[in-house]
Amino acid sequence: MTSRDLAHYETRNAICEYGRSLLEDDLTTGTGGNLSARLDDDLVAISPSGVPYDDVTPADVPVVKTDGTVVEGEVEPSTELPMHLAVYESRPDVGGVVHTHSPYATTFASLGEPIPASHYLISFTGTEVPVAEYRTHATAELGEAAVESLGEEFNATLLRNHGVLTADESLSDAYTVALMVEYCARIHHQAKAIGDPEILPDDEIDRLSDKLDAYGQ
Ligand SMILES: [Zn+2]
Repeated sequence: MTSRDLAHYETRNAICEYGRSLLEDDLTTGTGGNLSARLDDDLVAISPSGVPYDDVTPADVPVVKTDGTVVEGEVEPSTELPMHLAVYESRPDVGGVVHTHSPYATTFASLGEPIPASHYLISFTGTEVPVAEYRTHATAELGEAAVESLGEEFNATLLRNHGVLTADESLSDAYTVALMVEYCARIHHQAKAIGDPEILPDDEIDRLSDKLDAYGQ
C-alpha cells in the first residue's frame, strides 16, 4: 500500500467511524445524515447512500472528484453529494463536512430561527448558527443556499425545515461542531421554555473564537 492509499484508507475508515458516532450521539436516526472529508485538492470521500451506518466498510465509501465523478467505492455516494461539493468549492479552508438532522437544532431549522449565543460554546460555529433558505433536499440549489448562509465566517448553518450542516478544517472538527450546535440548541430551547435567555455580545464570542483557534495550534 502506498502512503496515498493508506491516507485514503484512513479517511474512508474515519467516515465509517464517525457515521456510527452519529447514531451513538443521537445526531441522527436510521440512514439519515451524511459526512465527508477532503482527501486532496480534487478528491473527496463521502458516506455512501442508503447503507446503515453499522454496515458501512471503508471499501464501500465512495471517493469522488470535485465534479462529482466517482473514482472509488462499491456503493453510490450520498444523495447530498452536491451540497458537500458546493461547500468544498466555496471554502478552501474546509476539510470536513457533516450533515445531521439532530432534533433540537432541527427544531430551530423548522422555526426558521437562528440559534443565538445563549451559551458560550456557540463560539465553535461563529456568533450564531444562521438559517439557510429552504431548498429541496439532494439538489444543487440546497448546496447554494447552504454556501450562502455559511459565508466565510460561520462553521455551521441550519438548513430550513431540514437539519444542520457543519464545516471545519477536518472531519473530526466538523463533527465536534455538530455536537456543539446540538448542545447549544438544546440549552437555548430549555432556557426559552422557562425564561428569557441572556445572549452574549458578538465581541465576546469573537474573543472566544480566537481563543479556540489558539488552542488548535
Ligand atoms: Zn438531510
